[in-house]
Amino acid sequence: MRTFGVVNSDHFKTFTNEQLMNNIEFDKRHIWHPYTSAINPLPCYEVISAKGVKLELAGGHSVVDGMASWWSAIHGYNNPTLNHAAKTQIDRYSHVMFGGLTHEPAIHLCKTLLEMVPAGLERVFLADSGSVSVEVAIKMALQYWACQGRSDKHRIVSPRNGYHGDTFAAMSVCDPVNGMHSLFTNMLTKQLFAPAPQTRFGHTFSEDDILPLEELFSNHHHEIAALILEPVVQGAGGMRIYHPEYLKRARQLCDKYDALLICDEIATGFGRTGKLFACEWADISPDIMCVGKALTGGYMTLAATLCSEDVAQGICQGEPGVFMHGPTYMGNPLACAVAGASLSLINEGHWQSQVQSIQQQLTRSLSRCADLQSVEEVRILGAIGVVEMKQPVNVAAAQKSFIQNGAWIRPFGKLIYIMPPYIIEANELQTLTDAIYTYANSL
Ligand SMILES: *Cc1c(COP(=O)(O)O)cnc(C)c1O
Repeated sequence: MRTFGVVNSDHFKTFTNEQLMNNIEFDKRHIWHPYTSAINPLPCYEVISAKGVKLELAGGHSVVDGMASWWSAIHGYNNPTLNHAAKTQIDRYSHVMFGGLTHEPAIHLCKTLLEMVPAGLERVFLADSGSVSVEVAIKMALQYWACQGRSDKHRIVSPRNGYHGDTFAAMSVCDPVNGMHSLFTNMLTKQLFAPAPQTRFGHTFSEDDILPLEELFSNHHHEIAALILEPVVQGAGGMRIYHPEYLKRARQLCDKYDALLICDEIATGFGRTGKLFACEWADISPDIMCVGKALTGGYMTLAATLCSEDVAQGICQGEPGVFMHGPTYMGNPLACAVAGASLSLINEGHWQSQVQSIQQQLTRSLSRCADLQSVEEVRILGAIGVVEMKQPVNVAAAQKSFIQNGAWIRPFGKLIYIMPPYIIEANELQTLTDAIYTYANSL
């Protein structure tokens, strides 16, 4: 019989399954995990299998996944349609270089994607990850202005509390405090920061909210290449949900001051906020847009940077006449095949009612956390539920409690948040919200 405690060195003696212990011990000694310490890593749980919204952990716990593997697994794990797409493609070929070659999986994916995205986006650059798609977006903006003879327009504006990835250019536009700019000061490009949008979604828009951005543009437009932001929901930089009017005004400012608008829809894209893309809340189109995360339904890494015809033409006028980026695994056919299948699933249209019922249930059952003494605020939009605590969350303790209550939730900072697969059933979502309530109530 296997027993299972919290996975840290103090508790190893409680394991009776040697293999599990060896695996976890090896992992702890040799493998980096996201944002964790090599010296004193957070506990890690080994996944044995995953199906639908459930993860089976070594030791016997079965947990409902509240994270959709960081916004990605919107159709659930082991999805027959996505499995079929991957298996069919793997029997044809897994990868061929994209330089000088093309293939049906990429063509089908890009065709489908262009039919879904906001109007005006015409060109697709396939990138390896969200962060890389942001690098590509920033390069596009800078090269666009350079090719217009405007190399002076080389800085990027970003609202505070943003998150755009972990590579250097992406980091340079992340929130300077959350994004730990102090660690890398000498390496990071100095960008321009506006205060984070203040008016909450659903409240009355305050005109004051846009003034600092307007002032920044008015003072610096000669050096501003682009504004980058996450439309309506700021994700990893604080899980803040703001008024779409801010986005509408941001679009107008970009037009007025000759700057490109880059919308990072990597987290918000493909239905998560209740619209196919969060841009639609403001009825705007960006000049450049990044998508990733749910693009492959959580199967493998793939992202895309889309741009308008005007941006594409502008980039390729004059010298060097080409866009200077081309990853080895660009347009990976296996990833494209799965992404194409994932978009087809989205286009069946069930996401709309699924996200709507998730929102309704979160409103009923997560909102009651707001009455708890430990809780600062509850925020909900679409299939996103956020409980902001008054104090930073003890991640190891919280996760132990969540797992005992059948939930996989990964808090950060003061935030306990969920964005489950769209296919989640009411009782499974109840497991998640109950687990959060129980933990928040225990503090
Ligand atoms: C996750 C995320 C990224 C980075 O994507 P990776 O695939 O992790 O590199 C960028 N922007 C936003 C808004 C994200 O949520």
